[in-house]
This record gives sequence, structure tokens and C-alpha cells, in this order.
Amino acid sequence: MIPTNAYLLTEAASGNAVLVDAPLGIWDLVEPILVREGCRLEALWLTHGHWDHTQGAAEVVRRSGAQVSGHRADQPLYETPEIMRDLSPDGIPLEAVKVDHWIGDGDRLEALGREVRVGHVPGHCPGSLMFYFPTEKVVFGGDALFKGSVGRTDFPGGDAAVLQNSIRTRLYTLPDETVVLAGHGRATTIGDEKRFNPYVRG
Ligand SMILES: [Zn+2]
Ligand SMILES: [Zn+2]
Repeated sequence: MIPTNAYLLTEAASGNAVLVDAPLGIWDLVEPILVREGCRLEALWLTHGHWDHTQGAAEVVRRSGAQVSGHRADQPLYETPEIMRDLSPDGIPLEAVKVDHWIGDGDRLEALGREVRVGHVPGHCPGSLMFYFPTEKVVFGGDALFKGSVGRTDFPGGDAAVLQNSIRTRLYTLPDETVVLAGHGRATTIGDEKRFNPYVRG
């Protein structure tokens, strides 16, 4: 319905895979890649509870058994997606997502043979999370920070001042060369956004 990014991370050595966000229908794209790479999807990490990032999640879990992680502040959105009815296109199926692990700021995950650092970046959504891979210097930031833009804050639970603070304290404190893979649009880097982002200057 709207183009949302999901990211599939696979590691051939362990045969494990992690999916970041689950737009509607994502399983049909993910499954052939898992088969080709010989990987099993062990985890689904949700950057936040908006429908465009979650409405493929229930199917992913049914088909793969992946464990789902998210932030508890978005529990109502995950468990009662009808809340988003007014914010979603007519006729889109809204299916609840069962989150297995509530995670939050400062948590460290062990995934794909690496340490992954979790950050809480509220403002676009109360339960917005980022997932930072320090070895690769890559961050999956959801809808907090985009190339040349930031997440909308006019949805319920949104707060522009809170989002600015999240970006300054959690994202802009990462190394400049860190690649930002966002929930919409193209990749950017922390350094570029600190220099050029018109909404939040570094
Ligand atoms: Zn969103
Ligand atoms: Zn989104």
C-alpha cells in the first residue's frame, strides 16, 4: 500500500537469519531467499508498531516460527491493530502480532554471531527502536530518521521534540560513517544527515 523497507539479514556460516520489520506480504519475498541461502529465520525485530511495518508479521511467524522482539510502549499497536484502522488504507487486513521479547534502550542482542545494540528512539512512535551493528557500522532506524527527513509526528503518540531528542542522543552519537537503513526510502549515513538534514542539524 505504501513502500516500506524490510531488511533480511542472513549468515551462511550459522544458517541463521533475522528479519527487520514485516510489511504485508513480506513472507513471499523472504522465503525464496532463505531457501537459496540455506538459512532459518530465527528472529523478527520490529522497529515500531505502525501497520505498514507489522502487517506481514503474523504470517512470518506462522510460517517460520521466528521469535518476535519489540518495545513494550507499542504493545497496544501490536496486540490491537484495529487502533490503526483510521490510519490505514480501507480494506487492509489488520492482524495482531504476538511479541515474544520486550526489548529496550541499552539492551544487547546476540544475533548472527555479532553483538547488536538496541536503542529506544521514540517520537515518531512511542515504541520506536533502532538496531545498531557496531562491527559493520550499520543501524536499522525504522521511521525515526530518513535521508533528508525525519519521521512524521502527527500520528497518535507522536512528539516532535521527543523525536529530535532521540535523533540527537541515539543516532547522531553514532560514528559519522554509520550507514542508516530506514523504514522508508534510501540509505544514508549519520554524517550526511548531521550535515544536511534540514529537520535536525548535527
Ligand atoms: Zn511509522
Ligand atoms: Zn513506516
